[in-house]
Amino acid sequence: MQPIRPCIFLLASICAIPALAQEKVLNLYSARHYQTDEALYANFTRQTGIKINRIEGKEDELLERIRNEGANSPADIFITVDAARLAQADALGLFAPVKSKTLEERIPGNLRSTDWFAFSTRARVIIYNKAAVKAADVQNYEDLADPKLKNKVCVRSGAHPYNLSLGSALIHHLGEQKTEEWAKGLVANFARAPKGGDTDQIKAVAAGECGVSISNTYYIARLLRSEKPEDKKAMEKIGVVWPNQKSFGTHINISGGGMLKTAPHKDAAVTFLEYLANDEAQAYFANGNNEWPAVKTANARNPALESLGPFKPDSLNVGTLSKNTALAQKVFDRAGWR
Ligand code: FE
Repeated sequence: MQPIRPCIFLLASICAIPALAQEKVLNLYSARHYQTDEALYANFTRQTGIKINRIEGKEDELLERIRNEGANSPADIFITVDAARLAQADALGLFAPVKSKTLEERIPGNLRSTDWFAFSTRARVIIYNKAAVKAADVQNYEDLADPKLKNKVCVRSGAHPYNLSLGSALIHHLGEQKTEEWAKGLVANFARAPKGGDTDQIKAVAAGECGVSISNTYYIARLLRSEKPEDKKAMEKIGVVWPNQKSFGTHINISGGGMLKTAPHKDAAVTFLEYLANDEAQAYFANGNNEWPAVKTANARNPALESLGPFKPDSLNVGTLSKNTALAQKVFDRAGWR
């Protein structure tokens, strides 16, 4: 308990609203907007008494907004998807380092930096039309460049962060030259010019417009959980491969966040990050978008994801993905992957 000061005799600024009251609010800028997140935040407020003010928006818009607000930004926490985006925010000096034993113990080392933390993971996998392509022919990302798959490959834009992060991982594992050869082979195999998101690719593969594509796992799980007859039918036509199980493992990416350097409520921000790493919050956070919890002990049962079976993920530190994304963009541009 703090002693009650006789405010009448002190300057207003000294006895003005105590710090405690100030910390009962958290301003969250989030590029995630899922139904289950509501329960996640309500639970936090119930447990801590800290009210959450949420600003939602698209990933890059929120980042831009934080930059424009500068030192006056009310944002305490920024949550987004894609490790390269988080690392970009970090490189811009937007995050403050967070020293937390809880976070260090619970979030695996390859899923955090000193300034931000992953709270869930997703994998970028190969999907193929079972009637048009043999699973044996699409076991690795490299296989997608094989002339055997001419006119069979569909994929979203090479400028999208998901593909740039994959390209960055490939540059790390294979080198720039091999990744460029791969991208050229991929482009030579296109069934159509890149368009749409991952869900569009899955549907095009199911419809036979293409034989094979790449998708994040949560789009697949979402369609597997769909009650719509057309989605059920589409998913029956599709096979899913965990790429590169005999080499570096399947590329993974993350949802995550960090505390901003200008955060007005730093204690509340750290409390929130630690809360997101508890088992129950992890389950909510991951399941909200059909992802895997970053924390190993968290148990988020997701039958759709489980139906895809176990896999070996790439153990590359996701924070290092941003190192090669600009180069990946150049490599993809040179290969003509628009
Ligand atoms: Fe997505």
